[in-house]
Amino acid sequence: MPTPMRDIARILREHDDIAILSHENPDGDAVGSAAALGHILSRLGKRFTMANASPLPGQFSWMDIPGHWTTALPTAYGFAVALDCGDAARLGPLEHAVDPARLIVIDHHLGNPGFGALNWVDTTSSSTGEMVAALADELGVPLTGGLGQCLYVAMVTDTGDFTFGSTRPETLELAARILRAGLDVGETNARLKNQWSLSRIRLWSEVMGGMTQHFDGRVGAIAISQETLIRTGTSVEDCDGLVNWALRVRGVQAAVAVRELPGGQVKFSLRSVGNVDVQRVAASFGGGGHKNASGGSLDGPLDAAQATLVAAVGASLGAPIAHV
Ligand code: 5GP
Ligand code: MN
Repeated sequence: MPTPMRDIARILREHDDIAILSHENPDGDAVGSAAALGHILSRLGKRFTMANASPLPGQFSWMDIPGHWTTALPTAYGFAVALDCGDAARLGPLEHAVDPARLIVIDHHLGNPGFGALNWVDTTSSSTGEMVAALADELGVPLTGGLGQCLYVAMVTDTGDFTFGSTRPETLELAARILRAGLDVGETNARLKNQWSLSRIRLWSEVMGGMTQHFDGRVGAIAISQETLIRTGTSVEDCDGLVNWALRVRGVQAAVAVRELPGGQVKFSLRSVGNVDVQRVAASFGGGGHKNASGGSLDGPLDAAQATLVAAVGASLGAPIAHV
């Protein structure tokens, strides 16, 4: 058992009014791990608030989310716990509101500087949800009901449905425990996945149709402009997961997705397979993440940002490998 986890369990047992924070534009691991911690605290009879710079994305509105989800830090809190945040900037505007002396960090990103007073960073964990499950075990809370559901959503999201290399035996064992504790896996996955709008389908068709290939087909690139988002009536949530599909093209070892932000800045997502390390590339632009999935932002315009990233990703590729 890692010591920071025991210390965190002790603090949660001994204190009340916990602020649960997660990264802005939260994905399933951020929402799932934050809500899972809320369930744990609720079962321990504690008061808590879930605060995130972004409102709860509509795609997660069906989830069993305990308590309230607010976009501002509560005025009074005992400790704050930042979940799934690779660095303090991932908290968005909440970064400057939170007191670092009362901040606990629970995360699994490479290169996390440990920006809290107490930091539990496990880069071998496939999701932050997996770490929160260990905390539930330590605190004697069973993985039933909403807790199991939220943990499962966190795991499914960050492991790409248990397909990424980060999926370890412990991940599948935890999923099995959650199923044994009563999770309806078919219904949960249906509610998580079958939520597309026709607008989203149109966005994806257009963006995927515009995919380009570079470096002898080893790098795939897609771009999402503000104009496309406005014309298709879609939002940032609808772009979630798009980048992964560039990896489906035979021979592609790394995928680059760029998305234009309203102010002209560009948000990027990188994905790779095997030993191609896109975390280093993202870090060289001030971003971060994992070896096979990373992100960050840089200046526009969109096409110049894409060219810069494609060149950087291409330069990080090793010698070509034979394809079967
Ligand atoms: P996504 O491409 O899905 O937005 O993010 C992929 C991974 O990169 C996630 O692990 C996420 O936490 C990380 N990531 C995405 N954007 C940023 C960023 O701006 N800064 C840092 N440090 N990490 C990011
Ligand atoms: Mn995560």
